[in-house]
Amino acid sequence: MSYRSIVTLVCVLLTAIFVGIALFGFRLADRSLETELSSEALRLKTAYQVSQAELEQQMIALAGIIAADPDSRRLLKAAHGVVLAEGGASGGEQAAQIRQQLFLRLVQSWGYLQHELGVRQMQFVLPETLSFLRFHAPAEHGDQLAELRWLLRDVERTRSPRSGFETGRAYAGIRGAVPVLDNDVRPGEERRLLGVMEVGVAFDGYIQRLSEKTGVGFGVLLEPFAITKSMWESYRPLFPSATPDACCYLLAASRDELAVWMGEGRLPEYSGVYRSDLIRNASQTYQVIRFPLRDYPGLVEPSRPAIGSIVIWQDVSAALAATRQFKEAAALNIVLAYGVTLLLVLFLVNASRREWQHQLAEQTERVAELSHQNEVLLMTAGEGIFGVDQSLLTTFANPAALIMLGYSADELVGKRTHALIHARHLDGSPYPEAECPIMQTLKDGLPRSHEDCLVRRDGSCFPVHMTVSPIHESGVCTGAVIVFRDITELKEKEASLTLLARTDTLTGLANRRHFIEQLNGEISRWRRTGQSTALLMADLDCFKRVNDTWGHAAGDEVLRHFSEVLRATLRRVDLPGRIGGEEFAILLPDSDAENAWAAAERLRQNIESEPAETAFGPIPVTVSIGLTLLHENDESSDQPLLRADQALYRAKENGRNRVEYVA
Ligand code: GH3
Ligand code: MG
Ligand code: MG
Repeated sequence: MSYRSIVTLVCVLLTAIFVGIALFGFRLADRSLETELSSEALRLKTAYQVSQAELEQQMIALAGIIAADPDSRRLLKAAHGVVLAEGGASGGEQAAQIRQQLFLRLVQSWGYLQHELGVRQMQFVLPETLSFLRFHAPAEHGDQLAELRWLLRDVERTRSPRSGFETGRAYAGIRGAVPVLDNDVRPGEERRLLGVMEVGVAFDGYIQRLSEKTGVGFGVLLEPFAITKSMWESYRPLFPSATPDACCYLLAASRDELAVWMGEGRLPEYSGVYRSDLIRNASQTYQVIRFPLRDYPGLVEPSRPAIGSIVIWQDVSAALAATRQFKEAAALNIVLAYGVTLLLVLFLVNASRREWQHQLAEQTERVAELSHQNEVLLMTAGEGIFGVDQSLLTTFANPAALIMLGYSADELVGKRTHALIHARHLDGSPYPEAECPIMQTLKDGLPRSHEDCLVRRDGSCFPVHMTVSPIHESGVCTGAVIVFRDITELKEKEASLTLLARTDTLTGLANRRHFIEQLNGEISRWRRTGQSTALLMADLDCFKRVNDTWGHAAGDEVLRHFSEVLRATLRRVDLPGRIGGEEFAILLPDSDAENAWAAAERLRQNIESEPAETAFGPIPVTVSIGLTLLHENDESSDQPLLRADQALYRAKENGRNRVEYVA
């Protein structure tokens, strides 16, 4: 992977990591805000519901306190009978008087309740839910309320207090009602219901106070179906575009925002269940929660639709701004951290790269140095060096190898090594590839060192000392390097030394040791073949006298002369040897006694007839010869030599210059 790719990858990875961290952080902040807002919304909803429940209890308490007034009870007790007597409904004159008395009796309390506690409605209802006196509308009475006012109906039916939100003909509010029972009864007699006392409070004042206490906005919306014509007309629509069939009727609002949103159609779609939304103005954002408002009939019969909804809103601009500021600060920090990390990582990558490059340069230099050294070694080595691959094809050859083999590199490299330079032994016999030590090393992966021979381009063979070293790659032998040295000279020296060790220096004949070795060999051969072989033992006659007369050097010349005559007289297969000072032994293979005798006699005559020509003039010399044949009993050279010596002794005894035979 290139440096640029690594840097790109690092940048991409770091960017991805930091973007991931940023997104995660932003998401956490958003979720935290959402959680905060939703718990705040629930808190507000609960606070409202608790507050409404308390208000209802207050209404019941107020109704109870007013209903406890003895005078009022007395008047109410009389009212029912009078109204019935005067034809029902509003009754007649007497009923009007009682109504008037009751009004006067409680008008002060009514005023107090209106001004101090925000009460908007107070009425007495006679049994059969017959309206008797409305303090908030004293002129309206005598109407039947059972159909419309479930709350009054239930108080009358159950004779227990009831509370809740309920719309009337011209008024909607939170109401509390208590039964007014006759205390004046005989024991065991059921208390008679005198009527129902109801006190109600309008939403506007209530939510206004609630809004002042909590600092949030409250609003009450009614569904169109819940609005009566008189109700619509009695309240001025709070936004200009409002019509009776609008989405909803704004019954009350503690602040203006709700009417504005409704006027602008910005209130989110509402499906009758709790919801929380954000509404943005130019400079502010409000959290708006909305939940159903159930009236008293809706609570009694849960299947009835909610009559409207409660809207609560609060300015959450500060919380949103705090979240935004947090995000901005976090983003700034993340960008800074990203920059620093990126710089650091790039610095580290760059430093690592420099270190790698440095190490690489060092290694390359070292390899180049080694390579150069190897090249020099290869090129200047005195030894021939060549390589082969697994297929025994030559891969390279150094100059020394090319010179010794007589090939150019092109002729050798890529060719099958064995066929070209290794196909024959020194003696010319074929050298099968299967026996080739190079091939064996390629097979078994083991090094070899041995004497061998190679074939030059001109076909001539020369002896070499060869070392075959396998090349292993990943544990497999993939080739071999062969180092060889021409040992022709060595071999020649060895041969001349061998010759020297076998030859008598004065005469050039086999020396005593070599002759006895040959004789022993001949005895073995004779045992195998049974062919007759003769042994002669020759001793110059009176040689001491030669030395004495002409000196030792002349004696040496005579000895050389004798050996030349020997060579000239004998066959090529015969082997003469000097086994003593002037004693010679001759092995005559494939010779019977007769032939041997003839040869010995010929030798004797030739010596006798050819005086030695020396610096001191011709010196005549004769020789005595003992003859014997190899026996089957001969175990070593000792026995035939002894017999030949006996024959020689006899020749000396019998006058010298003669041949004697001992069988
Ligand atoms: P015979 O006929 O009985 O053999 O008499 P001979 O004089 O030859 O006696 P012998 O064989 O005992 O003598 C050997 C002599 O050969 C003695 C020695 O001086 C001489 N001799 C031995 N080796 C050499 C040699 O290498 N060079 C010379 N010049 N003389 C040698
Ligand atoms: Mg002698
Ligand atoms: Mg002699």
